[in-house]
Amino acid sequence: MPATPCKITIAIDGPAASGKSTIGGALAERLGYLYFDTGVMYRAVTLAALEQGVPIEDEAAVTRLAEALLIEVLRPTADDGRQYTVLADGVDITWAIRSDAVNRHVSPVSAYPGVREALTRQQRRIGGAGGVVMVGRDIGTVVLPSAEVKIYLDASPEERARRRHQENLQHGQPSDYAQVLADLQRRDRIDSTRASAPLRAAEDAVCIDSTRMTIGEVVARAEALVREALARVKRDGGDADG
Ligand code: C5P
Repeated sequence: MPATPCKITIAIDGPAASGKSTIGGALAERLGYLYFDTGVMYRAVTLAALEQGVPIEDEAAVTRLAEALLIEVLRPTADDGRQYTVLADGVDITWAIRSDAVNRHVSPVSAYPGVREALTRQQRRIGGAGGVVMVGRDIGTVVLPSAEVKIYLDASPEERARRRHQENLQHGQPSDYAQVLADLQRRDRIDSTRASAPLRAAEDAVCIDSTRMTIGEVVARAEALVREALARVKRDGGDADG
């Protein structure tokens, strides 16, 4: 799809390992848009708490950390398969935020309203001007509710666990399918039942179940939604030009 002068906002939400980063990254590349994965911010705060010995159950201390931590997402600074580089207070944490310990603790950290407030503020600053594909759990519902395209990407827990397990093995990481499945299900449960900005599809989101779809099919479906939105904005004489 050719880059276009008309820049809209694309929100992609969904449970863990539903393919949001693969699809979001592919869309952003085709459109020449910024790709922003909000999960890295929650992971960065969790890693900082673990490294600094801040107890995860100390809501006030973890919230202070989220308010103070400088998180930067840059173009890849190393050729090691990364989609982007993540810095926390200037330190490269791109791979450290994918550790088992972070996977285990990130959902409780993300449930703290003060943490969400601090990170949501930064996400709106990054995504507010359009020309962005932002992925997470609450982008279409809370962070960017006026996004022109909202996609809720899902797949069965077993399929998502299978994909994540394969990915781990491809990266040479030890992986146990049953453990991966249990971890995904636990995270989804916490993420969808928390009081603050729970994981759910926005009312105006298009739900795509990718359980039996290839990546190419999902990208094609998402591109069709983007094309429709761009045509709509143009037809309505929206102010999204620029
Ligand atoms: O997408 P990813 O698996 O990296 O996200 C890690 C965790 O960050 C999620 O399980 C969820 O608890 C939290 N998260 C969130 N809101 C977002 C993005 C991620 O609560 N917008």
